[in-house]
Amino acid sequence: MNNKENSYKALLLDLDGTLLDLQIDQFIAAYIEALAKKFNGYIKQEDFARHLFGATRVMVANEDPTKINEIVFYEEFCRRTNQYYDLIKPIIDDFYRRDFAHLSCWGRKHPYSRPVVEAAKSKNLALILATNPIFPAAPIQQRLAWSGLDEKDFQLITTMENMHFCKPKKEYYLEIARKTGFAPEQCLMAGNDTVEDLSASKAGMVTFLVEDFILQRGEEEPVCDYRGSLQDLAGFIEQLS
Ligand SMILES: [Mg+2]
Repeated sequence: MNNKENSYKALLLDLDGTLLDLQIDQFIAAYIEALAKKFNGYIKQEDFARHLFGATRVMVANEDPTKINEIVFYEEFCRRTNQYYDLIKPIIDDFYRRDFAHLSCWGRKHPYSRPVVEAAKSKNLALILATNPIFPAAPIQQRLAWSGLDEKDFQLITTMENMHFCKPKKEYYLEIARKTGFAPEQCLMAGNDTVEDLSASKAGMVTFLVEDFILQRGEEEPVCDYRGSLQDLAGFIEQLS
């Protein structure tokens, strides 16, 4: 592992449950309820969540490298709801501009989010916010602010507007490598999800499972290069040469 440790050029960080202590179930429920209300009169309230999740699933499964995630999502969401993009898009944008901030009560700053970022900077590692790009930039930037961090700290923030793939596809991680110019093996991916984040290894990246709010999927013992708390991750970076 020593050779690997000395060759990192970039640190990829997951957001929800890694840098941000987010009460995910309550957050999702409140998010769906608030967004559904914005569509009252256009989309049946009882069908809203099904359509939102359905369109999100299609976006996550997309393998067409020519289609940005945002396009895939809106095509499917408009098809399902039988509504026009020109009606849907401004309502969603308005929600993120005016309503999303109310959900900040479900997120808390992790005391080691800032130390991890500072440690990476002190080692001249490029920082990439590798949050699953199923959201637009606006709510990602807001959640990043809830975590006590600033978008300026990151060379790249993956969003539905700038990515063609989602986690856990290896193509998502390869797209990050391509965009930033780093070889996958120069990238250390740290996150709390045993599937979505550890799948970076399929792209050839080194993985660090952050266990503070671990999201273990399935029964099997997760396969990762390193594991520990966010505090451990800060320490791990600090001891790199
Ligand atoms: Mg996460």
